[in-house]
Amino acid sequence: MLLGAALGAYTDNNWCMALAWFLLPRELYDHLCLHGVLAGRRRRCHVLVLAAGSQQQEIVVVGAGAAGLAAAYFAAVSGAQVKVLEKTEEAGKKVRISGGTRCNVLPSTVELPRDYFTDSSTSALRAVFSTWSLDDCHYWLSNSHEVGIKLALEEATGKWFPASNSGADVRDRLVQACRKLGVQFAFGAGLEDLRQQQGGGGWELLLQGGGREAAQRVILATGGLSYPSLGTTGDGYRLLERHGHSLHTPYAALTPLLGTHPGEAQLSGISLYEAELVAVPSSSSGGSGGGGSGGGGGKKKGGRAKAQRTAMLFTHRGYSGPAILDLSHHVVKALERQQPAPQIRAQWTGDAAADWEARLLEGGPALVPNMLRREGLPQRLAEALCLEAGVPLDRKLAELRKSERAELVAALTQYALPITGHEGYAKAEVTGGGLPLNEVDCGTLESRRLPGVHVCGELLDVFGRIGGFNFYWAFVTGRLAGLSAAEAAAAAPH
Ligand SMILES: Cc1cc2nc3c(=O)[nH]c(=O)nc-3n(C[C@H](O)[C@H](O)[C@H](O)COP(=O)(O)OP(=O)(O)OC[C@H]3O[C@@H](n4cnc5c(N)ncnc54)[C@H](O)[C@@H]3O)c2cc1C
Repeated sequence: MLLGAALGAYTDNNWCMALAWFLLPRELYDHLCLHGVLAGRRRRCHVLVLAAGSQQQEIVVVGAGAAGLAAAYFAAVSGAQVKVLEKTEEAGKKVRISGGTRCNVLPSTVELPRDYFTDSSTSALRAVFSTWSLDDCHYWLSNSHEVGIKLALEEATGKWFPASNSGADVRDRLVQACRKLGVQFAFGAGLEDLRQQQGGGGWELLLQGGGREAAQRVILATGGLSYPSLGTTGDGYRLLERHGHSLHTPYAALTPLLGTHPGEAQLSGISLYEAELVAVPSSSSGGSGGGGSGGGGGKKKGGRAKAQRTAMLFTHRGYSGPAILDLSHHVVKALERQQPAPQIRAQWTGDAAADWEARLLEGGPALVPNMLRREGLPQRLAEALCLEAGVPLDRKLAELRKSERAELVAALTQYALPITGHEGYAKAEVTGGGLPLNEVDCGTLESRRLPGVHVCGELLDVFGRIGGFNFYWAFVTGRLAGLSAAEAAAAAPH
């Protein structure tokens, strides 16, 4: 009995799994499978299939990104025979390069309405996330019987990274975990279209360049449109639309913004770490600075969004860094829909107006830009803000006029960044929009139009903010699609 279990655990050989299934008590077998000690939760299906000598049902996962790999793993661990088709020559390219190649694989906490964005219903979003907790996902990634990546928490940001700080390591372990379960991979295999087999028994997959595959169930995990250079060129969206699905119009999210810098200066290379940014609907404009539409005050109610991160960076063409990426989709969505874009207002050091007011009132012989630098503003930015606020660079604090002080405080605490556009999909970490959640069954992620086709990952109308939230979404939806597809495949008549 133990021999059977051991063989089953360390090989993906169906006969060994069959032996384990025959020899072990049912509860023990299921327990070992659930905890990843044995490689298949429903290998008994294989047993039956092997015994009958007939063909196994097959699941084809399209796309070997984070979601596709999770889907393949969980379909295989449930006993299904799984093949992954990947258009490029490599699995998990985004996993490999993500997080500056360190791969921020999960966040340490999740608060749904704050951390995820969707135009679909939030109850649907909750329903999907309720299928797998963050802790269980963390366990799956780190448990040596499953994916087995040693993870380390970056306390300051609440981000989980592999202890090796290597995205390639995460990718390799995900692929290895799949291979151990018998998942097959085909590279250079891009899906062109799907055709339902006669009698509704499954799907024929037509490949770019002419090949074909057949599958009882298909899991679409082709990602969105961001970083098209890595293979994600919106194929899945086109396919879904071709088969009658509607889409929430996709848009670039977590993308750098274009625009001039304060005082028309070139400030590229400057970073700030405590900036507080807020997106203010254009109807409530009134911040200081080049992007402002004049006037003062600004409504405090409704529609404002605060960046959850505080680091930002001046680039050659505008602005980037986590705080900017966090808010970028508000600007992109408006611009794409040809609506007035919200202002992004900066409180550069995080210090509020009253604090600056008090410091500027202290007087003394120091030059204003020097005092700003002492208080934490980079010199070039301090000078640019002075110029923009009409404060001469040789103005001493003691000589600062009331009107100058008011302009300067506004420039320091509610500067409207002069945003003119965005970097688009080429530099967007994710795609917003996509397949609305009400067009899939949220309990299985099966398409409501294409029976037997499940959809997961970035293709769906959900993205998360910076911090590991997007991989968490990819893993949750990949797992749900994989388990559901395998269960349905096993239940289907052979
Ligand atoms: C630069 C960058 C850094 C990032 N850093 C992080 C981070 O640190 N943490 C985080 O949580 N998220 C990060 N993200 C976001 C994260 O990478 C994505 O949200 C996640 O990879 C989406 O997973 P997915 O499997 O849905 O899609 P993808 O990872 O995009 O995978 C889709 C796969 O499908 C393949 N494919 C496409 N079309 C076809 C076709 N027709 N046939 C077959 N295969 C096809 C593609 O080649 C690709 O391999 C980052 C993204 C980028 C671009």
